[in-house]
Order: sequence, then C-alpha cells, then structure tokens
Amino acid sequence: MGVKILYVEDNPDNRLLVRRILMVEGYTVVEAFDAAQGIAAAQRELPDLILMDMNLPEMDGYTLTRHLRAIPELRNVPIVAMTANVMHGDREKSIEAGCNGYIPKPIDVDLLPEQVARFLHREDDNEG
Ligand code: MN
Repeated sequence: MGVKILYVEDNPDNRLLVRRILMVEGYTVVEAFDAAQGIAAAQRELPDLILMDMNLPEMDGYTLTRHLRAIPELRNVPIVAMTANVMHGDREKSIEAGCNGYIPKPIDVDLLPEQVARFLHREDDNEG
C-alpha cells in the first residue's frame, strides 16, 4: 500500500501543481476543494497526511482542522497548514487549531517533497 495524502485546496492551479509533484514522488493524492469535501474525504480515505489550505471559502482551514481533530480516527493524522499568511501569528493559530506544522506559500516545487517527507517521518517518530 502506498502513502496517501489528502490535499484540501480551493485553488485549482495549486491543486494541479501539488498533485503533480506528489505523484512524481509516488504518493497517492486525494483532493478536496472545500471543508465539506475535506471532512468526507478524510473519513473515507483515512489518509497518512493532510495538507490544508487555511484560506478556504465558507469554513476556513482552522475550523476544518478542529473538526477533523474531533474525529477519533483522524486524531493522529498529521495535518500541515499551507498558507501565505505568515504574519499575525498565523503559524501559532494553525498549531492551536490542531495542525502539526506549516508549509509556507507560495509552494516551492523543489522543497515540497522534502517538506512532506519530514511530516510523514515525524509521525513515525512520535511513538518513540
Ligand atoms: Mn485558498
């Protein structure tokens, strides 16, 4: 079984970019473009990692992360915030909402594989 990553993102250009990068790395990529889809996909797919655009329409990524964290099966899945909002304590806000970390936008195509691998690896280390 491969490693499955759920990407919640409303911007189609970002979805295409991230999907291409992650598929080259051999990951299975599941996409959702809003919070309702994100919750449904997360419960259905039980991904190994969730990449979360924090700036979503209707329900934002912070609120969505809190919803996902309340689902027992998803409690230990790493959730990584992706946002251009690097000011005003947004990193801290992401962590408080239940994210494990943060990948800044714009997405760096050269760095993304390493950034994702680090969060997948961190999950393995948490047990020890
Ligand atoms: Mn967005």
